[in-house]
Order: sequence, then C-alpha cells, then structure tokens
Amino acid sequence: MAVEMDTIETVTKSTICSFCGTGCGLSVTAKDGRIVSVVGDKNSPVSHGETCVKGSQAWTYSQSKDRLTYPMVRKNGQLVKVTWEEALQVIADGVRKVKDASGADAFGCFSSSRATNELNFLAQKLMRQVIGTNNIDSCNRT
Ligand code: SF4
Repeated sequence: MAVEMDTIETVTKSTICSFCGTGCGLSVTAKDGRIVSVVGDKNSPVSHGETCVKGSQAWTYSQSKDRLTYPMVRKNGQLVKVTWEEALQVIADGVRKVKDASGADAFGCFSSSRATNELNFLAQKLMRQVIGTNNIDSCNRT
C-alpha cells in the first residue's frame, strides 16, 4: 500500500517483517516521512505483538548518517559521487574485463533467503543468462 509520506504528518501502518521467513507482524509509525518507531503488531496471527531485535530495531539503519544514498566510484584513490548511469557503466566495464580475462566461471553469486523468490529468480537469471555461469547458490535452498 503506497502512502504519500510527504503529505502526512504522522501515520502508523501494519506490515510484515522481511528480515526472515517467520513473517512477524510489525506496526510502523512515521512522522513527516521518517520512521520514528517499529513495534510488534498485536493483531498479527504469527507473532502476537512480539518481535526479535531485528524486527524492532533494524529500521534505524535507514536513518544512519553513514548510509549511502547515492552511487560512488573510486577515482584516483578517492570515492566520488557519480550518477547511476556512470556507476552502472563502471560495473559493466569491470564485469566485461574480468569475463574476457578469466571467463564466466570467474564469477559466483550467493543469493539470500531475505530476498523474495522473484529477486532470487532474477539473481540466477543474471548469473546464467547474462554472465554465463552456473555458479549460483543461496542459503534459501536448505
Ligand atoms: S521480527 Fe525477527 S523473527 Fe520476526 S520476521 Fe523479523 S527477523 Fe524474523
């Protein structure tokens, strides 16, 4: 459900924690477009208002002053802010260089159980179809 965060002073919404497969219910409150608290959703049939520390506290990283909110590329030993187009071109050039020098099996990807099925599907497609290797694994196969 999309919420126009800029236009609402304080809003509380129920959602589901995506940090693991348990699916605890969370109640998220935002003020002026910024999260101000996350607590367990008492109406959740899964967790009945309980959460682990990740569910209740991990949101704070979204407001960390150290969080990167734009791409950076190292130039002459210094990290420099660049456009997404430039950053993606640097990545594509680097992948092509490694693939030309060492082959597709020089790459490997370890996907994540924290990602959705769709993202894990895209990760294996990227590795098999774009890179050209079957070196793909994930903790979510266990
Ligand atoms: S609150 Fe903890 S146990 Fe519940 S879904 Fe999130 S990470 Fe998993």
